[in-house]
Amino acid sequence: MDSVSFPYDAPVSQTLFDRASLVTPGGVNSPVRAFRAVGGTPRFMVSGTGPYLTDADGREYVDLVCSWGPMILGHSHPAVIEAVQAAVARGTSFGTPGEGEVALAEEIVARIEPVEQVRLVSSGTEATMSAIRLARGFTGRPKIIKFAGCYHGHVDALLAAAGSGVATFGLPDTPGVTGAQAGDTIVLPYNDLEAVHAAFHANAGQIACVITEASPGNMGVVPPRPGFNEGLKAACAQNGALYISDEVMTGFRTSKAGWYGVDGVAPDLMTFGKVMGGGFPAAAFGGRKDVMAHLAPAGPVYQAGTLSGNPVATAAGLAQLRLLDDAAYDKVNAVSKEIQALVTDALTKEGVAHRLQTASNMFSVFFTPTEVRDYEDAKKQEAFRFNAFFHSMLSQGVYLPPSAFESWFVSTAHDERAIERIAAALPAAARAAAEATA
Ligand SMILES: *Cc1c(COP(=O)(O)O)cnc(C)c1O
Repeated sequence: MDSVSFPYDAPVSQTLFDRASLVTPGGVNSPVRAFRAVGGTPRFMVSGTGPYLTDADGREYVDLVCSWGPMILGHSHPAVIEAVQAAVARGTSFGTPGEGEVALAEEIVARIEPVEQVRLVSSGTEATMSAIRLARGFTGRPKIIKFAGCYHGHVDALLAAAGSGVATFGLPDTPGVTGAQAGDTIVLPYNDLEAVHAAFHANAGQIACVITEASPGNMGVVPPRPGFNEGLKAACAQNGALYISDEVMTGFRTSKAGWYGVDGVAPDLMTFGKVMGGGFPAAAFGGRKDVMAHLAPAGPVYQAGTLSGNPVATAAGLAQLRLLDDAAYDKVNAVSKEIQALVTDALTKEGVAHRLQTASNMFSVFFTPTEVRDYEDAKKQEAFRFNAFFHSMLSQGVYLPPSAFESWFVSTAHDERAIERIAAALPAAARAAAEATA
C-alpha cells in the first residue's frame, strides 16, 4: 500500500468518520464502505442526483457503485421520488396487507416466468436465508451446496468462503458462525460441474439445494461458463434437490428478467433485492408454486417480517421497475460498453495486465493477465494495482467500488458529461496502476 498516497483532502468526511468510529464498529454500517482494502478516508455522501454523488466536503463524483446496484435509474429519479412522497403521505407502515405489495409481486411474477409466487422481505440476506429454510423444509434434507466467492448475504450457513466484504478482508470464515451452522454447507469451486456431481454422489439423499449467484458479481464479475447453470439445474433435478438462483444483484439489472432473461435456465427458487427496492429495503424470494405453498400461513415453513412489503419501499420499487423497459436496458448496456472500452483502452495503453469481465451491463477489472473463472483465480490478481487506480479515480471525481472484488454499476442517468469525466480520469489512473508496487 506504500505506493498509494492519500492526500488528506476530505476533512469533513474525516471528521464524520472519527465521530462514527466512536459510536459504530469501524465507523460504518456495512464493512466494504470503510475503505479498509484501498485505504484512506471513506467519503460520507450527502446527496445524489442522476449519475453524481456529492460528499460532505462538497466534492462531486461520477458514481460507478450506484448503491451496489439498486440505483439503475440514477439518483433521485423524479418518478421514483414522486412515488415515494405520495406513499409517505399516506402513512409509512400498517402491519397489514396493502395493494402496493400485491402490485410489486405481480410485476415480478409478470417479468420472470419461473416465479409463480413470491414473498416480499426487507433484505437480500433475508431472501436467501428464507429460500434455504424453505428448500430444507420442502425436501426434508439438511445439506446445501454453495460456491466459493459467491456472496448470499450474511446468512450464517452461507458465510463459508463468501465473496464481497468477506473476500475483501480475506477471512476464510467468520467467528460467530458455529460448526453446527456451517457444517451442513458444502463449499465447491465455482464453474466446476464435476465437483458438483462428486458432492451429490458423496452426499446421496442429503442435499436440499444448490444455491448460486445467477452470474457472480461478489468476487468481481465471474460469469458462469457456457452450460454451467444448465448443468446445476440438471444435477439438482436428478438428485431431488432444489436449484436456487440468487439474483439479488443481477435481478432486474442484467435484463428485464435479470440473468434468467439472459441464459433462460429456470430455477426452482430465486432471490431478489437491490434494484427491486428502488433504493429502499425491499427484497423477495419466489419460484415454483408447489414449493412456495410450503411457506406459512399456506404451509408449515415459518417466515415473517414486521416491515415486509412496506408501503414506501414497495412504491419505490414498483415505480423503478415500471420505468425499466427495453429502452432503459438498451441505455444501461450502451453506457456500460462505452465505459468498458475506455477502461480497456487506458490500461492497455499503459501496458497494465488486466482482464475486464462482464455479465451484461455488470463488469469489473481484474489486474491479472488470465481469465478469472473462480475465486482462486480472482485472488491471484494484483489488488495493489487496483488500489492505486481507485485512489487516482477518486481524486479526479470518479467513485469506484472501494475493493478489487466488486462489480462496477452504471445507470440510465450516466450521460455524455459523466462519461467524459471518466474518460478524462482514466489515463492518470492507468498510469498509477502501472507504477504501483506491492
Ligand atoms: C447484495 C447481495 C445479497 C445480500 O443482500 P442484502 O440486501 O445486502 O442483505 C445477497 N446475494 C447477492 C448475490 C448479493 O449481491
